[in-house]
Amino acid sequence: MFTIKGKTTDWELVIGLETHIEVLSNSKLFSGASADYNPTVAPNTQVSMVDVAMPGMLPVLNEYCVEQAIKMGLGLNAEISRKSKFARKQYFYPDLPQGYQISQPAEEPPIVGRGWVEIMGDDGQPKKIFIERAHLEQDAGKLKHDVHPTKSFADYNRTGVALLEIVTYLNTKDPENNSYITSPDEAERYLREIREIARALGVSKANMEEGSMRADVNVSVRPVGSKEFRTRTETKNMVSFKFIKSAIEYEARRQIEIYENGGTVSQDTMRYSQADGTTSVMRSKEDALDYRYFPDPDLLPLEISEETIERIKKTMPELPAATRARFISLGLNEYDAARLTESTDISKWFDAAVGDKPARAKPIANWMISELFAHPENWDVKNAVDTSESGEARIITPENLAELVDMISANEINGKQAKEIFIKMLDGESGTPKEIADRFGMKQITDTGAIEKAVEDVIAANPSQVEQYKSGKVGLLGFFVGNVMKATGGKANPAVVNEILKQKLS
Ligand code: ADP
Ligand code: MG
Repeated sequence: MFTIKGKTTDWELVIGLETHIEVLSNSKLFSGASADYNPTVAPNTQVSMVDVAMPGMLPVLNEYCVEQAIKMGLGLNAEISRKSKFARKQYFYPDLPQGYQISQPAEEPPIVGRGWVEIMGDDGQPKKIFIERAHLEQDAGKLKHDVHPTKSFADYNRTGVALLEIVTYLNTKDPENNSYITSPDEAERYLREIREIARALGVSKANMEEGSMRADVNVSVRPVGSKEFRTRTETKNMVSFKFIKSAIEYEARRQIEIYENGGTVSQDTMRYSQADGTTSVMRSKEDALDYRYFPDPDLLPLEISEETIERIKKTMPELPAATRARFISLGLNEYDAARLTESTDISKWFDAAVGDKPARAKPIANWMISELFAHPENWDVKNAVDTSESGEARIITPENLAELVDMISANEINGKQAKEIFIKMLDGESGTPKEIADRFGMKQITDTGAIEKAVEDVIAANPSQVEQYKSGKVGLLGFFVGNVMKATGGKANPAVVNEILKQKLS
């Protein structure tokens, strides 16, 4: 059910995403030119004759890009087509010097077929999002309209760089047999999952800010309980999670309003305005482009052997979903496991801290999520090395946190002291937690003799509370514990204090 301004409507959302990720590779999909099109690279310096379609130039398929696509396909739990083709998609635009984009034909199996990824659904339960296909294609160049007042410039460095387009599946023929995205939040979780899979595999940086991941967003609405899918619109070229969610919200509201006023939604291609969060028609179905797809006569069909697929399977690292399952088996809940697999850097940091001691998992997770996540400057997840210098923000390493957690479980310090040590580290105190504890005399008192003495003093000083406690007001135990802790300068082991107090008061 879709809510508008906190009010539940009788409408539900159907969302399909076409996600482009830029394939990490040294050279382009069909030429030997460098695939580095960073803004720091001089324009039109990474361009071969093939990229700008000089007559007589022939494309040669980059095997590495194909392997990257296979890797991603396996990461999407998808079928890899043993045979697929390349086709020309014709259209005119100044960022496309060939006059066509080499892609894979829409009607035939692309390199990656049906698959799925698992996300957390809005009900907090795991949910599969079905994938229809992923195909390889060329990226276009970039136009620059802000260099000159009356001229536009074209930079072809990006022309021909490999893209993988991943399309979610909607089974319109059998509406019962479906699993698709139904809310803006699920759309974001799906895109984050795609991003993490791509990064874990080294297939793409999948970074929306730098444009190595972009999405087209298809949205339709239908009355709750209805079986048919209604007409959708497609909002093109979205480059941030925030805008994608806002575009979905806006489109859904717009379509619901049209239906509620007795109108019909037309299958339009929309553009999103970042300035006011609205969508507007870019072209209507009548103006839909006819791309006149036809098989590229310069390229042979792509055949992939079973051995190649098997070889790549063996190189697959643990993917985020498997990491989450492993963390849950270490005793974390779904939420913690999800937070700690938001990036491979974070999950590696967690693994390094836990080491070979599963008992550390839960406390390490708690410290990371409730403390470290709030201080990103103090735990350079990529370069987790100790660069501490007194007085400056220091880096807290996985070893530091492991040591701190171990000191608590060994009763060397209590939780309050651990927090103090932690804050000192955040403030730039140098050394390991043990060294800091020694330096500041933070040792937990577990010596029962010393604690007994403090307990007796507190009991002697508060006769009326003792009276009340003995006559049944057992809630006063906290009062006594607090006073004993105060008397020991916060150093006593709280468990021991509790035990001795109960003994002496009974
Ligand atoms: P096209 O080739 O025109 O882009 P596709 O059939 O490949 O269209 O679909 C593109 C995306 O739109 C897919 O993710 C698909 O699941 C989604 N989609 C298709 N029909 C609908 C619909 N009625 N509502 C929402 N999404 C849809
Ligand atoms: Mg499309």
